Amino acid sequence: KIAVVGSLNLDLVVPVARHPLPGETVLGGDLAEHPGGKGANQAVAAARLGAAVAMLGRVGADEAGARMRGALEREGVDVTRVEPVDGVPTGRALIAVDELTGENSIIVSPGANNALHPEHCATEGSLLRDATVTLLQHEIPPETVAAAARLAGGTVLLNPAPARELTVDLLHMVDILVPNRAELAALVGHPLPDLHAVADAARQLRGPAAVVVTLGADGALLCEDGAVLLVPPHPVRPLDTTAAGDAFCGALAAGLVEGRELHEAVRRANVAAALSTTLAGAQPSLPTREELARELGE
Ligand code: ADP
Repeated sequence: KIAVVGSLNLDLVVPVARHPLPGETVLGGDLAEHPGGKGANQAVAAARLGAAVAMLGRVGADEAGARMRGALEREGVDVTRVEPVDGVPTGRALIAVDELTGENSIIVSPGANNALHPEHCATEGSLLRDATVTLLQHEIPPETVAAAARLAGGTVLLNPAPARELTVDLLHMVDILVPNRAELAALVGHPLPDLHAVADAARQLRGPAAVVVTLGADGALLCEDGAVLLVPPHPVRPLDTTAAGDAFCGALAAGLVEGRELHEAVRRANVAAALSTTLAGAQPSLPTREELARELGE
C-alpha cells in the first residue's frame, strides 16, 4: 500500500494573452476548475496504475473540499483520512496560462493544507508504519513532512516541490529523493548547466539512498550508490506538461509497491510521465495501467 501525506488544491486556471505585471490587470479567458495539488495528483497517478493508495490530508469544510475528496474517491483513493477543517478554505492554486506558449505562473494558497499537523501523522501511525511506500511533497508544513518520514515503516519517497530548505535530519530520513532539475539546483545551491553538473549534484547529496532527478524533455537520471543511470526521454509530442512531475512520482511509487527494482520503476515512471504530457490538465492527463502497458508493449 502507498500512503500519500500531502496537499489537495482546487486549481483555478485562466488562459491569458500575457501574464500581468505587478500593479497591472489583464483580461483572461474562461475560468476552468480542476482538482489538483501535488499530493492529490500523485495519489491519483499511483491509483490509476493499479496501486492501493490512502491519502492523509486536510481540506476546508466547503464545497471545494467536498469536490476534492469526491474526485479522489472516484479514482479509488482511500480518503477516510482526508478530513475537513472548520474555518479555513480548501487549498487553491491560481494559475495563469499563456495561451501561446503554455507557460504558467502559479500562486498556491495552501489554506487547509497548512492545518495538517505532525500530531495527525502520529494519530495515523499505523497507516504510515504499514505502508510499503510513503510519498511526500512540500505543499504541507515542513514539520508534518518530517513527522511522516519519521513514522514511515517502508520506503520514504520525497518530491521536494516546491523548492524549500531541507534539514539534514529530514534528508537522512528520506530513502528516495525525487527533485526536478531546478529543485536539485536549489538544494545544492548552485546552477546546473548540463547533465554532468546534475549527476555531480545528485552524487553530492548526503542522506537519501537514491536520488532520481526528473529532467523534463531530457528524461530522468537515477543516482544510487554513486552510480549514475541516465534514462532517455520517452518520445512524445508534449501538449501540456502540467503535473508531469506528479505523474512521475506517483508512477515511481506504484512501480515500487509492485516490487520492481528501482531502475525499472524509474524507467516506467519516465514513460508514464511522458504520456501525461500528451493530454491537457493535471489529473485528467494521468495514464492508466492499461495505457502504460500498451506504451511499453507489454
Ligand atoms: P516537473 O513537472 O516537476 O517540472 P519535469 O519537467 O522534470 O518535472 O518532468 C517530469 C518527467 O516528465 C520527466 O522526468 C520526464 O519523464 C517526463 N517529461 C516531461 N516533459 C517531457 C517531454 N517533453 N518529453 C518526454 N518526457 C517528458
